[in-house]
Parts: sequence; C-alpha cells; structure tokens
Amino acid sequence: MSKVEDFLSVQEEQEIIAAIRKAERSTSGEIRVHIETHTDSDHFDRALEVFHLLKMDNTRLRNGVLIYIAVADKSFVIYGDKGINKVVPKNFWNSTRDAMNNQFRQGNFKQGLIEGVLQAGFELQKHFPWDIDTHENELPNEISRS
Ligand code: CA
Ligand code: CA
Repeated sequence: MSKVEDFLSVQEEQEIIAAIRKAERSTSGEIRVHIETHTDSDHFDRALEVFHLLKMDNTRLRNGVLIYIAVADKSFVIYGDKGINKVVPKNFWNSTRDAMNNQFRQGNFKQGLIEGVLQAGFELQKHFPWDIDTHENELPNEISRS
C-alpha cells in the first residue's frame, strides 16, 4: 500500500501550509488538513473522529474546519464545527468540494488541497471575518497524518 508521504513532498506540504496561513489572514475560522492512507470506517465518521482527536472543537467561535483525506480510498470530507453549521446554508462547502474535485480528477493532489483551503477561507470570511479579537492562531497550520 502506498504511504501518505508519497502524496506530498516536503516542499508541497509547505505550500499547503502557506495556503492555510493565507486563508486564515482573512477569517477567524481555523482550517486544518489531515491525511491518511485508508480507513475501514465510514469517511464522514472518521473525519468526525479526527476532528475530535485534534481537539478542533476548542476554538472560541467553534469555527474550525477539517479537510480530511483518505488518499488510497480517493475520498475526502470537509467537516465544519457547530459555529459554522449554525450560520451557513447546507450547500456551504460545495464550492470548496468542487474546487478540490476538479484538481484531484486531474491528479493534481497538492493543487487540489491548496485550492480547497483557499476556497474554504474565502467562504468562511463572509460569516467569520478576521478581527483583532480572534486573530490568534487557535489551531496549528501544520498538516497532520495518521
Ligand atoms: Ca485564527
Ligand atoms: Ca490555524
């Protein structure tokens, strides 16, 4: 089975982290990316589990977003915390999902993640604008793996 490391080089990973940093400059929302190879669980259930494992429900406005990817399963989930779901329409993540799908379909894994992160930030800022009281980096920007 292929390793998670095969999907992103160190350089590519840095580019994604830079995209997270950029996205978080316009919103108080916190975006994280978690990558694993495969799960036997339902992908949505697994994303929820990872969300809690990473303590992403600890943000003040409950506006953390997890982009969870199971690479060998060719599956990903965008999961936003309670604070987001309370104020956005049901199809809120569609544009983010589409941006990722468009790139993934062409095999552009890194670019899909970058565009997903930036699109998520763009959508988030409409409801969770950056402000001086929430400017701290509440969740690490580094990509996590399992
Ligand atoms: Ca923040
Ligand atoms: Ca962050």
